[in-house]
Amino acid sequence: MSNREEQTARGGQGQVLDPETYRDSIGTMEQSGKRRWVFPRKPKGKYTNYRNLVAYLLLLIYFIVPFIKINGNPFLMFNVIDRTFFIVGQPFYPQDFFILTLGAIASLLFIIIFTIAFGRIFCGWICPQTIFMESIFRKIEYAIEGDRNKQMKLDRQEWNSEKIWKRSLKWSIYAVISIVITHVMFMYIVGYEKVLQIVSEGPFAHTTNFIVMILFTAAFYFVFAWFREQVCTLVCPYGRLQGVLIDKETINVFYDFKRGENRSKWKKGEDRKAAGKGDCIDCNQCVVVCPTGIDIRDGQQLECINCTACIDACDEVMEKVGLPKGLVRYASEKEIEENIPYKFTGRMKGFAVVLVLLVSFLGFLLGNRGEMEAKFIKPAGSTFFVREGQITNTYNYTFLNKTNNKKIVTIKVIEPAKGEVSHSASSKIVVERDKITKGTVNISFPEDAMKLSKQNITIGVYNIDGRLIDSYKTYFEGPFKLQF
Ligand code: SF4
Ligand code: SF4
Repeated sequence: MSNREEQTARGGQGQVLDPETYRDSIGTMEQSGKRRWVFPRKPKGKYTNYRNLVAYLLLLIYFIVPFIKINGNPFLMFNVIDRTFFIVGQPFYPQDFFILTLGAIASLLFIIIFTIAFGRIFCGWICPQTIFMESIFRKIEYAIEGDRNKQMKLDRQEWNSEKIWKRSLKWSIYAVISIVITHVMFMYIVGYEKVLQIVSEGPFAHTTNFIVMILFTAAFYFVFAWFREQVCTLVCPYGRLQGVLIDKETINVFYDFKRGENRSKWKKGEDRKAAGKGDCIDCNQCVVVCPTGIDIRDGQQLECINCTACIDACDEVMEKVGLPKGLVRYASEKEIEENIPYKFTGRMKGFAVVLVLLVSFLGFLLGNRGEMEAKFIKPAGSTFFVREGQITNTYNYTFLNKTNNKKIVTIKVIEPAKGEVSHSASSKIVVERDKITKGTVNISFPEDAMKLSKQNITIGVYNIDGRLIDSYKTYFEGPFKLQF
């Protein structure tokens, strides 16, 4: 018997000898170190229904987003190979590193503040690991092998025809789904057209891609067929951070130990209060339903992904025995200790305001991204030339059009005002969307306008409608001048 099982058994008699013993081991490991496979009972109830709705909506989004285009651009794409990113159809380039870094810092702050206030709601409701595991792979397992007891029986029995058939059917479906998930994931990286092209041309035409796909498929299969809750318990860095992020005021799934203890089995017609017993009837339903194999009554544990299955399980039990629901519920430790009902505290309101400000800041960054990035660089080794009273410098320009539309632009010297621009083609330059346009331009100043042999100038890039869309500061060289 594991520490945890011992603890639960003793707890069942109202004799919890050492309330912290359960922290000596993780719920899915025997004392010998062997993995204890979790066979969670199929959850059902109000929260499960809501979670299923959210999960199916997110899965739908995951599968359709790669096919959505805005003005011909992918809605979302993270092409790390070509270093091109699209967010809500807007292209981002390595030149946008500053915005992306600020965005990443703001997102990190968002996660930290959200977790301090609202705990692991992300893990239970939004995390792809939970959604794929609980809403796809686990459901297939229930459909093929049955609920908890049938799964345990199948696991114990010899490899007879029933077990071989059920397990091979389950694993084959898992493999197919892992292949699908991998292909969709790659659509977010290289676009759906490229993935469909690779698929249609076959593995031998794209050996490297094929090998990468196989590796990712194998990784997904390994995670969902075998590793499962170990990802949340042993690997996920967000899970590891919980210990430093949450405090007594954080909202999490909690067992109301004030109300539940002294736990004791249900006896029909008994006055539990008079007998000094708490509302927990020690039915173990909150334990057998837990996909991470823990007992929520032991208190807040890092294995808990806040999946709410134990809330539904306990509510069902409470309803059956005629006691109030909510013995296991969303609450903070402080609320439970002080026996106060859930309320949206001043602290949570404060955090919510900070979260709104962070999201607004991100929106501001995205909304105020320049339409174009222009650079004017003097070619290496180039110098000035003087002709008919004009000093001329040559510049290589690079324009990056960050918008979804083709742009026609002109170049003008903003400062000093006497500068003139000439370049070989017409004065209008066409800059295609998502493209870098390069060229050469000459800039001249009258000799008498040059006060120094090297002076700063600002070159502007103007839209066809006369609007300044970017400017660049560089320097202009002329003949040596004595300065007094
Ligand atoms: S303790 Fe409850 S909320 Fe936490 S993982 Fe287990 S069933 Fe889900
Ligand atoms: S489901 Fe509720 S009543 Fe049953 S053991 Fe868990 S907390 Fe106690």
